[in-house]
Amino acid sequence: MKITLTKTKKVKPDYGKLGFGKYMSDHMLVMDYADGAWGDAEIIPYGDFNIDPATQILHYGQGIFEGLKAYKTHDGKITLFRPRDNFIRMNNSANRLCMPALDIDKVLDALYELVKVEEDWIPTAEGTSLYIRPAMYCSNVFLGVKSGTKYRFFIAVCPVGAYYENGLAPTKIFIEDFYTRSSIGGTGEAKCIGNYAASLIGQEKAHKLGYDQALWLDAKDKKYIEEVGAMNIFFVIGDTVVTPALSGSILPGITRDSALKVLKKNGYKVEERKISVDELVAAQNSGELREMFGTGTAAVISPVGEFTYKDEKYTVGNGQMGKITGFLYDTITGIQKGKIEDTFGWVIKIK
Ligand SMILES: *Cc1c(COP(=O)(O)O)cnc(C)c1O
Repeated sequence: MKITLTKTKKVKPDYGKLGFGKYMSDHMLVMDYADGAWGDAEIIPYGDFNIDPATQILHYGQGIFEGLKAYKTHDGKITLFRPRDNFIRMNNSANRLCMPALDIDKVLDALYELVKVEEDWIPTAEGTSLYIRPAMYCSNVFLGVKSGTKYRFFIAVCPVGAYYENGLAPTKIFIEDFYTRSSIGGTGEAKCIGNYAASLIGQEKAHKLGYDQALWLDAKDKKYIEEVGAMNIFFVIGDTVVTPALSGSILPGITRDSALKVLKKNGYKVEERKISVDELVAAQNSGELREMFGTGTAAVISPVGEFTYKDEKYTVGNGQMGKITGFLYDTITGIQKGKIEDTFGWVIKIK
């Protein structure tokens, strides 16, 4: 692989005030597809892409992405969390968007090189990591709705702190019963860029009303709970942890899968099934709803303290982070940071 290092390194941000997604590192990885095959991956100085105004991606949105994290452990090792699963999912997204599949082993090797080149961009403090953003877009220059023949795959990385400014403070969510994120047969199962543009209006509505996130219902009946923001959602009802089953319109989160596996291994009762908003309200009213939380790579586990449905406001438990929510946060971040033994084979050590 060709590696071109930059001589003019950026000044590192204050690692105590990282926020999320604000500071890109010195280098990026690019790999182009043409004539039916991927070319070689290259690591080059981070910089602009030159885009012709007629490039397909700007008009028809044939684009997908992924998100994962690298960590530096207390003994100076560099690790990634379940990276192969992200590229398996990226290939599923590529298939849905009529884009070419990646050679997963080749891309993982290239990613590991990039992370090693950017080693000094990996923050070490509690709650921080190096966020990795792989993405792919159609780079053909033409106006016309059809899938392309040229694609660019790239990976950018950035040091990040907590996803939410107030860290693990319980969030307030608004159950959205007009706008929808995804429908069966649509692209909601894929991490395709258009999904996020389409969800902004629901997110802005929730923000205007004073909430952190919108909770999405199924598009057909507006009855069943699907996701919260760009996270999967879990409920603790009585002694059972419930999450919506992967129905075809829900993004199959890797954190969701990790949470399910950690819970099962620790003897919790878990159910993946349909859960209606009526069931949620009934469980809340009977006192059975104990906890609610979202899962996703960016925030890992995000407790929900309050939700509103049809103008009625409900406080989950005592409004604070619940026990199972805290247990999952500590366990998953502990495994990621190398503080808790990984018995699942999730942590990949690259240095
Ligand atoms: C990325 C994403 C998730 C979370 O997936 P992870 O693999 O856990 O990061 C959940 N829902 C949506 C819509 C997403 O885009």
